[in-house]
Amino acid sequence: MSRKKDWPGVIEYYREFLPVTDKTPLISLQEGNTPLIPAENLRRELKLTPRLFLKYEGANPTGSFKDRGMTMAISKAVEAGASAVICASTGNTSASAAAYSCRAGLKCFVLVPEGNIALGKLAQALVHGAEVIQIKGDFDVALKLVLEIVEKHPVVLVNSLNPYRIEGQKSGAFEVVDSLGHAPCYQCMPVGNAGNITAYWRGYKEYKEKGRSESLPKMLGFQAEGSAPIVRGEVVKDPQTLATAIKIGNPASWKTAEAARDESGGLIDMVSDARILEAYHHLASLEGVFVEPASAASLAGLIKLQQDGYFKGEDAARDVVLILTGHGLKDPGRAIEEVKPPDAIEAELGAVLSKMKLE
Ligand SMILES: *Cc1c(COP(=O)(O)O)cnc(C)c1O
Repeated sequence: MSRKKDWPGVIEYYREFLPVTDKTPLISLQEGNTPLIPAENLRRELKLTPRLFLKYEGANPTGSFKDRGMTMAISKAVEAGASAVICASTGNTSASAAAYSCRAGLKCFVLVPEGNIALGKLAQALVHGAEVIQIKGDFDVALKLVLEIVEKHPVVLVNSLNPYRIEGQKSGAFEVVDSLGHAPCYQCMPVGNAGNITAYWRGYKEYKEKGRSESLPKMLGFQAEGSAPIVRGEVVKDPQTLATAIKIGNPASWKTAEAARDESGGLIDMVSDARILEAYHHLASLEGVFVEPASAASLAGLIKLQQDGYFKGEDAARDVVLILTGHGLKDPGRAIEEVKPPDAIEAELGAVLSKMKLE
């Protein structure tokens, strides 16, 4: 495993796989090149049989994988002469769009569902100077409005319906193969609007076609139980989950997510919020990896499948990569609610030692 020196960002590093030319301006925050962390503690403590790796996408510049696609979408928008971009967002897309837009000197509009966006993400969009429009509706309504706006106005869409987003996000799959030296046997990931599972699958396929890997992983996607349209086979009208990044009732990339599932021989299943929170704690306390709740769906799903006896024969001992899509600091409200900060005690040695049970 080689440490990549002078990492230039995903467009420059994977240029030959991406729809860019010498004329495409590069708007980059040197995203990508995120860690692939072996997770032996989780494996041992939870009696998981496969070899486990955590692809920690929280290590991207704005704290989520959205940066991989945003560097492409914003670079191409600038190349096309755009002056403004827009997205609907559960939070991370808006944080990323806002950051890349200010680098590019673009105006950035974001539509977010009121009360359903984690505090860290809202703060990011605002600090980067985006025009944040909170609507009294959910993500699906926000996306519908945005699609109407871009049809009639000179504002470029940077949701994952923008094909350059998916192109950039393929780089996650390239990195997994480059780090492991081969494709994993399974990949677990959360599924919301389903752009990322679409992107990873395309990335794995292209890498194999170009001779960079010999096999393809089975794609295992996980939705939250209260927000599982693909699993249930129908639009969910009023999706519910504390994993706000995957609180989406009508995914834009529904068909391509099903294709990724079926072509790879994988599955798309659902996990309860209780299991998501349990996995959130396991990642933080066993491996030192702090993720936002949606990202913990990857591990929650893996645990569920292991308990169901899904991993069989030789495959049961092979490599599994969990995509951990966003940083835990994105949703500080959830973290504090989960752990309850301690009350203050007297600033006095005896009191502190007694708290430490060292008296
Ligand atoms: C966007 C996002 C997802 C969902 O990705 P999709 O491409 O919409 O399926 C999951 N986790 C986090 C942290 C995200 O920001």
